[in-house]
Amino acid sequence: MLTHLECTRCGEHYPADRPQSVCPKDAGVLYARYDLAAIKRSFSSARLAGRAPTMWRYDAVLPAANPVSLGEGFTPMLASREFPNVFIKDEGLNPTGSFKARGLSACVTMARHFGLKKLAIPSAGNAAGALAAYATAAGLEAHIFMPKDVPAANRIECDYYDAHVILVDGLISDCAKKVADLKQSDSWNKDGWFDVSTTKEPYRVEGKKTMGYEVAEQLGWRIPQGIIYPTGGGVGLLGMWKAFEEMEALGWIGSERPKMITVQSAGCAPIVKAWDEHKSSAEMWPHAATLASGLRVPKPYADYLILDILKKSRGTAVSATDEEILEATRHWAKMEGLFAAPEGAACLVAYRKLRASSFFKPEDTVVLFNTGSGLKYLDVLDPSVARTLVSAFPAPAKRPAPRQIGGIIGPY
Ligand SMILES: [Zn+2]
Repeated sequence: MLTHLECTRCGEHYPADRPQSVCPKDAGVLYARYDLAAIKRSFSSARLAGRAPTMWRYDAVLPAANPVSLGEGFTPMLASREFPNVFIKDEGLNPTGSFKARGLSACVTMARHFGLKKLAIPSAGNAAGALAAYATAAGLEAHIFMPKDVPAANRIECDYYDAHVILVDGLISDCAKKVADLKQSDSWNKDGWFDVSTTKEPYRVEGKKTMGYEVAEQLGWRIPQGIIYPTGGGVGLLGMWKAFEEMEALGWIGSERPKMITVQSAGCAPIVKAWDEHKSSAEMWPHAATLASGLRVPKPYADYLILDILKKSRGTAVSATDEEILEATRHWAKMEGLFAAPEGAACLVAYRKLRASSFFKPEDTVVLFNTGSGLKYLDVLDPSVARTLVSAFPAPAKRPAPRQIGGIIGPY
């Protein structure tokens, strides 16, 4: 039922029967579009009952390809033990321990479908682990460009998944530049390379949108008053908003929408700054620094879409300091029995602030997204672990010959 891809800037249509990255005209993010009227005639939400508890239960609104699945999605919606009407969507129970599994499952599914061979990704951490896992499950090569100070778990899991890891002395934006350089090499088209960067191909959004379908289904097709989402690249925010539009077209929900809330780290808050200044795009955040590595994205590529969703949903953007995030991580562990990723715990900081300012009332149903497991951040959350890990797992000094990729990028 996938009919075409559509540019989110100019509205131009592109065929969905081949790999596509961004709009050739204006570099806009491309969205997958479906014949929703036909899906509405042939499928209903009642038919979801009894389906396998993975994100592929929503395959009626996903591209028709043989899924590369490790069991991702349909994560628990936990009722908060502290706040009535608050739910925590625990994405830490996904394969590879984070919400990135959804996007990369969909993306690698389509990459294999199109016969691509070598998938390149700049990643702040968890997307790297997810790509590495799904690529190996699909029999494809993963080429990971990650900052050298990512959480150790991300580096180690990529090594175990047998991915090609290039550690970069810089931020995810510097990693993205390395991938851009690679695209200029002769090998790029000849050897089946593809850039699976955040929002630079259409299918990671498709995987992440299943979070929106799950929020609705798990709340009995009621839409919450708010969703608080830790926003780095913002794919989940885009995906959930797209899911709500699709579900309305399918007749599964009405026109109601949650207020969409972005939470970022005070050490890297380009969306919060742009929101506060009433801008429609973000500026590059200088000297980005936060222990919440997934939020260390100095300028998300889809900034214009994120800001538009905050506006349309009458949401807002909130920042949390590293100290607040660490306290919230410990508080959630102690209060909820949930060992969260720091990015996820940032949602609790945002919720408290929004309750204090009466943005949310106690009776509002609000969903907080814990995007990953705290177990992937042991070295971030406990400095003694960092010291042990560095001596036990020094940065590997092997892997890929730089000449293979045009001689542009040194191995480490
Ligand atoms: Zn366009």
